Amino acid sequence: MSSQSFEFEANPTPVDASERGRVLEDPGFGKVFTDHMAMVRWSDDRGWHDAKVMPRGPLLLDPATAVLHYAQEIFEGLKAYRLDDGGTALFRPLENARRFRESAQRMAMPELPDDLFLGSIEALVKADRDWIPSGDGSSLYLRPFMFASEVFLGVKPASEYLYLCIASPAGNYFKSGAPAVSIWVSDHYTRAAPGGTGAAKCGGNYAASLVAQREAIAQGCDQVVFLDTAERRWIDELGGMNLFFVFDDGSILTPPLGTILPGITRDSILTLARDQGITVREAPYAIDQWEADARSGKLVETFACGTAAVVTPVGTVKSRDGAFTIGSGGPGQVTQALKARLTAIQRAQAPDPHNWVHR
Ligand code: PMP
Repeated sequence: MSSQSFEFEANPTPVDASERGRVLEDPGFGKVFTDHMAMVRWSDDRGWHDAKVMPRGPLLLDPATAVLHYAQEIFEGLKAYRLDDGGTALFRPLENARRFRESAQRMAMPELPDDLFLGSIEALVKADRDWIPSGDGSSLYLRPFMFASEVFLGVKPASEYLYLCIASPAGNYFKSGAPAVSIWVSDHYTRAAPGGTGAAKCGGNYAASLVAQREAIAQGCDQVVFLDTAERRWIDELGGMNLFFVFDDGSILTPPLGTILPGITRDSILTLARDQGITVREAPYAIDQWEADARSGKLVETFACGTAAVVTPVGTVKSRDGAFTIGSGGPGQVTQALKARLTAIQRAQAPDPHNWVHR
């Protein structure tokens, strides 16, 4: 199935053009939504069926719907960009499709075929193309997700699922378009254990991270960094972003895959850095080493990366034992250069040697 397999039902009462124009001037993040949504159903006996793009609206759910009780749910996040030539592009959408299948496997859910995943996004973006903002750093954020829709309270993989994709125009993720973010070290709460769900993009991971994120905010920080479960020593990732460390010899390091989310931005940065001849390591890095290296000057930059926040410098790190600053506390050169390179490719303003841009 492809985007042609999606039946289209137009929204009879779309947001009017002047209101849409007003919203697109400053969309914020995740607050406003487009006129349509894509939907595909799955059942034990019929497999994937009923692919359509339809007016966006509330879902009617029985109170015994399985997801409301056992959180069998996964999601993805990717962006559609408006290009200078008036075209529209997605960035590495098949990587999201693959990660969605891998998340489904981990959560005992049916795997959505890549052509349906991509087809749903293409059909939705086509229907709601006028909602793609054109401002600097802005895009149309796409949120594919799937949940157990069977009405049954038994604890077992459901026999019915609903896949949907919704879209939301997005400006800069951090309100101030922050030059550098501050990080709180969560020494008590962890995000993922070996054998757990850390590598899957399931809603439950985020539910479990909220208390630590709230602690970070209470400590005056923007984001929380999670450590490993066994020793509370090895740096995993932030609540919604992967981390990179830049050293004074020009090399970069990022924590290895396993319990962290395999970020598509992380993978892109690794590839771009290798392309430029930068020495890259995927290796464990300890929280005490981070502080020692920042203080000695061996570590010169740290940045976080992800679809929503792209590449964002980390300025300060705070824990119960005190705080330390990274470099000057502002954006560093390597961070800026990698960000510029990545965003230029995403917006088709630079050559795309790895064929990442999907028009
Ligand atoms: N880690 C977590 C926990 C995330 O939620 C995200 C956002 N999807 C990332 C890392 C970054 O992944 P990506 O670059 O694919 O957006």
